[in-house]
Amino acid sequence: MTGFSKRVLAFIVGRPLVALALAAVVVGVMLLNSRRHTTPVTHRVEHVALTDKQQMQLGSEQYAKTLRSNRARIVSSGPQYAEVQRVAKRIEAVAARDKPSFVWKVTLIRKNEANAFCLPGGKIVVYTGILPLTENDAGLATVLGHEVAHATAEHVAERIEREHLTEAAAAIIAGGVAFTPAQYVRVVALFGVGDTLRFSRSQESEADHIGLVYMARAGYDPHQALAFWKRMLQASKGQEPPEFISDHPSDAHRVQRIEGWLPEAEQAYKPER
Ligand SMILES: [Zn+2]
Repeated sequence: MTGFSKRVLAFIVGRPLVALALAAVVVGVMLLNSRRHTTPVTHRVEHVALTDKQQMQLGSEQYAKTLRSNRARIVSSGPQYAEVQRVAKRIEAVAARDKPSFVWKVTLIRKNEANAFCLPGGKIVVYTGILPLTENDAGLATVLGHEVAHATAEHVAERIEREHLTEAAAAIIAGGVAFTPAQYVRVVALFGVGDTLRFSRSQESEADHIGLVYMARAGYDPHQALAFWKRMLQASKGQEPPEFISDHPSDAHRVQRIEGWLPEAEQAYKPER
């Protein structure tokens, strides 16, 4: 060891805060290699810095938090449980072709809120309050197709990259701390209120497109997606819109765009024999 490195080491050992900052910089530098990812179905090239593994870690942390705070309300038997497992299994099998490294899993929570979401890395949460609106398996497949599309298209990682939060996210993954409290708050805010992920309008539209093709690949008639969204529009008329629709902007164009993607989804549709 040279005299210089000895002096550097002595300097660091005496100052744990400096050592922490250096470790943070190393983590940050490792992650600055932004990579290009091509979204499934829409074939859009996006830039993300988090690896599949890091996305899974970030999602798992949030998933554990959600399950902890809803422990008494987790549904693990009965017809609603069976339906969610049945439909999710088929949608997950389709999504796994695009993201074989993710670990797919769904949990049903008894909550009077029309909502569902899929965390980065493949962990899905469904609230019982959305089931009266989905009405049937194909309706639920529409919702789950849309939600898992956010995960396979790496939309959270894309937002983290775009908002320059990569280093903060990496620090959270590495040990639950971010560089500054403000950065920590911004990464956590991506998960929004009530664990609902916040996406841009174009990401929502892309999730509609990918989700429609996914439900068709899973053997659900994509025309049922149109029926579902029309029911959602109806339900949101003249009253508080259902949670799911208020997080997922529902302009009249949405139904039109879905109609435009139907021919592609029909091609992918293989009815179950
Ligand atoms: Zn969405």
